Amino acid sequence: MQSDYAVRLDRVSRHFGDVRAVDDVTFDIADGEFFTMLGPSGSGKTTCLRLIAGFDQPTSGRVFLHGQDVTGKPPYERDVNTVFQDYALFPHMNVADNIAYGLMIRKVPKPERMRRVREMLDLVQLSGFEQRKPSQLSGGQRQRVALARALINHPRVLLLDEPLGALDLKLRQQMQIELKAIQKKVGITFVFVTHDQEEALTMSDRIAVFNQGKVEQIGTPEEMYEKPATVFVAGFLGTSNLLSGEHARALTGLAGTISIRPEKIRICTADERVAEGLQSARGVVRDVVYLGTHTRYLVELDSGGDLVVIEQNLDSHELPRGQRVTLAWHPEHLRRLA
Ligand code: ATP
Repeated sequence: MQSDYAVRLDRVSRHFGDVRAVDDVTFDIADGEFFTMLGPSGSGKTTCLRLIAGFDQPTSGRVFLHGQDVTGKPPYERDVNTVFQDYALFPHMNVADNIAYGLMIRKVPKPERMRRVREMLDLVQLSGFEQRKPSQLSGGQRQRVALARALINHPRVLLLDEPLGALDLKLRQQMQIELKAIQKKVGITFVFVTHDQEEALTMSDRIAVFNQGKVEQIGTPEEMYEKPATVFVAGFLGTSNLLSGEHARALTGLAGTISIRPEKIRICTADERVAEGLQSARGVVRDVVYLGTHTRYLVELDSGGDLVVIEQNLDSHELPRGQRVTLAWHPEHLRRLA
């Protein structure tokens, strides 16, 4: 059946007793999209993934794949495959047999099997590792084998549950780039679960931020970062300064809860002139943290409260603690939050 989406959740809930693990969630994932479900521990991401895979069934609502209602159907009747954080490789089988496993079960003839294993090894850059056992591989290599094994059946949708969670930072960053490149190459819809905001920003076409079983906001990485809709999203994706009440009104002219990102605020000594069109506030530097590429300042405002400011280290004129400063920002960088 033709449809313009790969996955559709329509008012899906999954309750465990009193716990609303997934609470009235609705969204579409486009065919070929890299879609990330991002949120803190316990926000319902994995449960949502399991509902798409068919490992679990919703308490209410419907799950669709490519135009077909699959609610109630078991995993093997869904054209999806899953990669887990712990790889789940067979320890006694070599790499080639691990990858070929799905084809063996389906009784695909050996020459065809071997051809596709080679193709997959090439895709995940592990050619030459056919005969190794999982115990003879690094964490990153094991994860690539798991990925190859999940892709060899050409599922229309690949579900990935924190697949990079066990890797150290450097390897994780490298795998983020590789994973995105592989997804582009194969063109399969990827649904990716993570609690790591950087990972989500790096790889995704769109991100859904989960909070307490609900989706707070869905958008491209840039939309989510530049235009967070809620206090939760502003705080979870990057850092944000939040202003509210009279203080917000006095500083920005806006009512409600207002957010501004630390890197959107310019910091200069108090005697420098502020360019036209910018809003400004005066204060004193209370804390300075040098972070290599940038420096983070905490500035106590004369009008009360404080703002975090991040300045890229273009030169080495770090402002000292106690320095009187003027902060300035463009009003278009202010966001009113729900
Ligand atoms: P994490 O990042 O820690 O994996 P998550 O966002 O994936 O978290 P879920 O695993 O989906 O969160 O869990 C959502 C909520 O549902 C949690 O409060 C969890 O304790 C609860 N939950 C999940 N599975 C079950 C279950 N089988 N029985 C009871 N409660 C469950």
